[in-house]
Amino acid sequence: MSNSQSDQDVAVTRFAPSPSGDLHVGGARTALFCWAFARGRQGRFVLRIEDTDRKRSSDAAALGFQEALLWLGIDWDEGPMPDGSTRGDHGPYFQSERLELYQSHMDRLLEADLAYHAFDSSEELDAKRAAARAEKRPYRYDRAGLQVDRQERFARAAAGEPHVVRFRTPDEPITIKDEVLGEAVLPAGEVDDFVIRKADGYPTYHFAVVVDDALMNVTHVLRAQEHFNNTAKHLVLQSALGFEHPAYGHLSLIFNPDGSKMSKRDKDKAIRAAVKSAGLASPPDGTITQEAFDAWLGDKKSQLDHDALVAMAQALDVTLPEINVADFERSGYLPEVLCNFLSLNGWSPGNDLEKFDNAFLARNFDLSRVQKTPARFDRDKLLAFNLDAIQAMPEDEFRARARAHGMRFHPQFMDALTTEQFDLLADASRERSKTLDDMFKTNGWLLLEDDRLSWPISKPVRKAMLKGETPGWTILQQVVALLERIEPFEGAALERELTEWAEDACDGNLGKIAQPLRIAVTGGPVSPPIFDTLAMLGKERCLLRIARCLEVMEGAAASS
Ligand code: GLU
Repeated sequence: MSNSQSDQDVAVTRFAPSPSGDLHVGGARTALFCWAFARGRQGRFVLRIEDTDRKRSSDAAALGFQEALLWLGIDWDEGPMPDGSTRGDHGPYFQSERLELYQSHMDRLLEADLAYHAFDSSEELDAKRAAARAEKRPYRYDRAGLQVDRQERFARAAAGEPHVVRFRTPDEPITIKDEVLGEAVLPAGEVDDFVIRKADGYPTYHFAVVVDDALMNVTHVLRAQEHFNNTAKHLVLQSALGFEHPAYGHLSLIFNPDGSKMSKRDKDKAIRAAVKSAGLASPPDGTITQEAFDAWLGDKKSQLDHDALVAMAQALDVTLPEINVADFERSGYLPEVLCNFLSLNGWSPGNDLEKFDNAFLARNFDLSRVQKTPARFDRDKLLAFNLDAIQAMPEDEFRARARAHGMRFHPQFMDALTTEQFDLLADASRERSKTLDDMFKTNGWLLLEDDRLSWPISKPVRKAMLKGETPGWTILQQVVALLERIEPFEGAALERELTEWAEDACDGNLGKIAQPLRIAVTGGPVSPPIFDTLAMLGKERCLLRIARCLEVMEGAAASS
C-alpha cells in the first residue's frame, strides 16, 4: 500500500463515531485525546463517520457530532465539514460511501482463501449456540462453512444464495499491545472465524475499521475500552491484508460518582425518582399520555424521548443530569472548561496543575499518563471550574458569550430586552453565574408583563414586607415619591439617592428598603444588585409594579 503520507506523519489519529444519538461526554473525551495526541506531534486528526449500520445512523446525528466537536474547539484535518464540504485526501469519510473499497479488499481475502463464504442458516447457528450454552462452554463458530467445497462456495455465492463472509482466523495466540493497559495474550481458538461481511452485503465494523485505518494511514488508535477485545480481530485482519498495525490505546469509561456508568438512562432515572417520591400514578398535565406513562413506568429500561424528558423535568421541577455534549452546552457550560475537566477525567499533567486549556493539553498529552481505571465524573467540581472561569472572564467577553447563549437557547428572553438592558443584566449577573444559563433561569421577572407579576407570600416575602414594627411595605410607600423624582433613572443616581434617603428613613440601613423594593419589582427575594435591578426595568415599570405590590401587601397586612 502507499505510505507516502504516513512517512511524514509522526502521528495520525482518528475519531470514528457511529452517528446515532448525540455525542456523549465519554466520546468527546476520546475525540479530545485523539486530537491532542495528533496536535502535539504535528500529526493529523481524522474524523470518520461509521455509518454502515444504516438503520441506526442518520445524517442529522453525523452533523450533530461535527457541531459538538467544533463547539468544544476540536477541529480535524480530514473528514466531513458541517457545510457539506470535505477535507483531506483519504476520503470518502462516510463508511457508507466506501463500499467498493471494502469489496476490493474483501475479494483479496476470498481469493487468497483467508476468508470464505458461509451458508449456515440462522436456525443452525442458533441451535449450536444453544448447545454450547447447555454444556456451559463458550460458543465458537465451528467452521462448518468450510465443509463446503471451495469452488461450490464461490458458485453458490455468485448464484445469489444468502451467505456471510467469515475471516479464517489463524490458530495462533494473539498478542494485544496496549499503550494504556499493557499487554494481553489471547490463547489460540479464543477468536473464532468471525463475520466480516454481513448477509446484506455490508462489511462488519471489524472489516471496515481495519481497511479504513490502513487506507487513512492511522498510526494510533485511541478508543473506548469496550473495543479492547475487538482489537484482537483487527490485528489478525491487518496481518492477513498486509497492513501495518497501528498502536492501540484503550480508554476507560467515565462513571458517575456512585460508580454506575454515566449514561443517557440517567435522565430517565432522575425523572423516575421524582415520580416515585411524589407518588404519581398519572403523568403531570401537558407531558405524556397515561398509556406512555404506564408503559415507561412498567419497564425500568425504557427511555422517554428528549421532548418528553424535558416536559416531565419541567413539570416535576427536576434538573436533568447532563450526559451529552449538547446537554452541557444548553446548560451553559463553557466548552474550554468542559474540555479541561474531561481531560482530568482520565489523564493528568503529572503535577498538581488542574486548570489548563486545549493548547496545553496538546503540548503535554501522552499515553503514559492516561488512567487505566474508570474516572468518576464530579459534577460539583465541574460547576466550580465553570464559575471560576466566568469570574475570571472580562466583562465584554461575558456579555458576548452570554448573548450568544441567549440567542441560541432563550430567543424570547433576548427579544424582550434592549441591548442596554441585556448588558446591564449581564454585568450584574456575571460574578454570581455558575453557568451562562443562570441569568436566563433566574431573571424571568424581567420578561413578565407588569400586570402579570404576582407576590406569593413566601417566608422571605413575609419577613421583608409584613413583619416588624415598621413593616417593609410601609417603607416602600414612603420611597415612591423619591423614585418618581430620580433622574436619570440609572444605577449611579439610584445608588446615591437611595443611600442618602436611607440615612434618615432607615437609620442608614439600606437593606430595609432594598429588599422590599426587590420583592416589589421582581416578585421574589432574589435578583441582581438592587440598583441594577431597578435600572433595568426603568422608572415607569418599577412604579407600576410597586403600586400593584402595595395593594397586595396592604391587603395581606390587613388580613393577617
Ligand atoms: N464506531 C465505533 C463506536 O462508535 C468506534 C470504533 C473505533 O474507534 O474503532 O464505538
